[in-house]
Amino acid sequence: MNIHETAYMEEQFKKAGYEVVPFEEEADVYVVNTCTVTHTADAKSRKALRKAKQRNPKAFVVSTGCYSEVYPEEVEKVKEADFITGNTEKFRIVELVEKRMRGELPRVFVKGVWKDKRFYPLTLRQFEGKTRAFLKVQQGCQLFCSYCIIPKARGAMVSMEPEEVLKQAEELVKTGYKEIVLTGTHLGAYGIDLERGWNLAKLVRKLTEIPGLYRLRLSSIEPLEFTDELIDVITSSEKVAPHFHIPLQSGSRTVLERMRRRYRPEDYRRVVEEIVKRRPESCIGTDVMVGFPGETEGEFEETKRLIEDLPFGYLHVFPYSKREGTVAAKMKDSVPPEVKKERAKILREIGKEKSIAFRKQFLGRELEGLVLTELSGGRSVALTGNYTNVILDRKLPPGEVVNFKLKEVGEKREENYGEVVG
Ligand code: SF4
Repeated sequence: MNIHETAYMEEQFKKAGYEVVPFEEEADVYVVNTCTVTHTADAKSRKALRKAKQRNPKAFVVSTGCYSEVYPEEVEKVKEADFITGNTEKFRIVELVEKRMRGELPRVFVKGVWKDKRFYPLTLRQFEGKTRAFLKVQQGCQLFCSYCIIPKARGAMVSMEPEEVLKQAEELVKTGYKEIVLTGTHLGAYGIDLERGWNLAKLVRKLTEIPGLYRLRLSSIEPLEFTDELIDVITSSEKVAPHFHIPLQSGSRTVLERMRRRYRPEDYRRVVEEIVKRRPESCIGTDVMVGFPGETEGEFEETKRLIEDLPFGYLHVFPYSKREGTVAAKMKDSVPPEVKKERAKILREIGKEKSIAFRKQFLGRELEGLVLTELSGGRSVALTGNYTNVILDRKLPPGEVVNFKLKEVGEKREENYGEVVG
């Protein structure tokens, strides 16, 4: 989401006549789109603000994003930040920055995401060859899992009206985009705030009916939001990319309860197995957290076993990071850092093996991919529906759909090689 919003802000500055330069260069205005998902993210955000001022002491340095939104009083202490503003303010960033520069706004200007329940549309187009477009259809989350700061950073759940989603998707297809990626802070909750009984399954079904749309990809969806209706549509339409990111967080029932997640390990297993049974080529990705307060060796083992059992295509492993203002921040019995590190290492190792095994199943098979970019030396990169990047032995224009044989699988998801067929 932050990457998309940064691109959006860049666009706004360009439209207003500014020249956008890389962060490493000298500039008159620096905008740091901060993150607060972990302690490390906070520290990196503060460092970026300081770096900006070092580069040009006369520059006007802006802090926006989740860290500024949730902990403005902390960002205030960073003397290099000339203007501290939040998440909804990003959508009129140029106006606000200019006002502050003229002295018409205070140094800290954060309205608060919970006070503003408007939907802020955001469409990001990957320009090269008009290959992929990211379409935000939902924002906010109010589940308040005990470790998570996101509800405070992103506010209430608001969905884009379905007619508007369809209109925007049709326009993207008409202008030549081949793949649309649906995004949202909590995509599975799409429609919950709308009347007329809309939900993600209905939206996906409608989107797949758009003539000319080659592929629709979904971003992260919570396990219990895979309703029968959603599983039906995603496993029966060839247009839906067989790539599903389903956050697990823990494979232990007791840890999940303390995390205030609303499913049990067996629910998670059922969803994954059902999807893979119906669409065996599916790539299932997940997020796992290690070292949640009180996580015992036994609980960690339960997580490890569940992961070993399920056919994941990739894992994102995160050590737990305490976030002030969450329920878990008050929990005792924290797991020592070295134990967290060790557990993360074990799961990352399993993740690596799972990823290789997943891709190896397709060795020697003929696959289809969307060309994303051309490489030097007469090669190009294609992305398959099930989220595998493949380096092809031929130079092809971005946006072309290509058939190829998978010849070699490397350690990383992007390190695969294929030969174009035909
Ligand atoms: S982990 Fe996901 S579902 Fe839970 S509160 Fe955070 S954003 Fe919402």
